[in-house]
Amino acid sequence: MNKCALCGSEAKLELSHILPKFFFRYLKKSSPTGNIRSTSNPNRIIQDGEKVPFLCGECEDLFSRWETSFANNIFYPYEKGEKSQFSYNSDLSKFLASLSFRCLKLAYTQDRLENIDENQVPYVSKALDNLANYLLGNNPHPKEQRQFLVLLDTAESHSGYVGGIKESEFNLYATRAIEYDVVANDIAIFIYIKFLKFLVLCPVYIQSQKGWRSCRVNHRGGILKPSSIELNDYVLHRMINGARKAINSRESISGRQSDIIKKNLNEQQPEKLANSPIAQAILKSKA
Ligand SMILES: [Zn+2]
Repeated sequence: MNKCALCGSEAKLELSHILPKFFFRYLKKSSPTGNIRSTSNPNRIIQDGEKVPFLCGECEDLFSRWETSFANNIFYPYEKGEKSQFSYNSDLSKFLASLSFRCLKLAYTQDRLENIDENQVPYVSKALDNLANYLLGNNPHPKEQRQFLVLLDTAESHSGYVGGIKESEFNLYATRAIEYDVVANDIAIFIYIKFLKFLVLCPVYIQSQKGWRSCRVNHRGGILKPSSIELNDYVLHRMINGARKAINSRESISGRQSDIIKKNLNEQQPEKLANSPIAQAILKSKA
């Protein structure tokens, strides 16, 4: 018996996905090779996300209701290009807060916050409290831990480069990568969750509201659409770094693995390749 990470009750914990399974399932289904590779060890094919004993059955059910609402109303329609404007209700803020909570709590309990100063750690525990109380319904509002959602698409630059990275490579990252991180610098700590064409941000501590106004999700509901956005330099930096890491990791794939990838690609029907979001990301870019 262990303690549930959200409600704290002693229970037999379920093996929970830190990021929902349908992200990975969709990535795999829409990938021409039908496989997913993890960035940290690109030679190992991963089919699923990270799973840890985390939540009790009740909290798992709570999260899965918001997950289903997001999957059906926003995720699939946007990924498939069927819709780009969405009216949402309170489920969206809850779902995003549940993602932020899972990522921050895991980083906190597994000591993955090595980039955070000791005197900044109290901000992390306070943010976890705010998120948990909001998710459990003890607070109607997540307080400082409001959720931000950016709808991503392929970027088109005049130079063919984005932040020093080939536009096609950047677009591949922007539309396909799945990763999460707790980012810290002198003026901000925030949760960064990137999955396919979505970027979720949640401030843990920010010195100023600058760059944190657009893309804010209202906890009651509202309209979501791709629009001109103002993002902080440190958020854009994190994206560029993520894209760079993905390129390096692809380059480090061993010869044998790269033969397997080529073989899988060769066996695919050309239409499936051209219609896959990866191919479209590359075709649409000028690089
Ligand atoms: Zn629980």
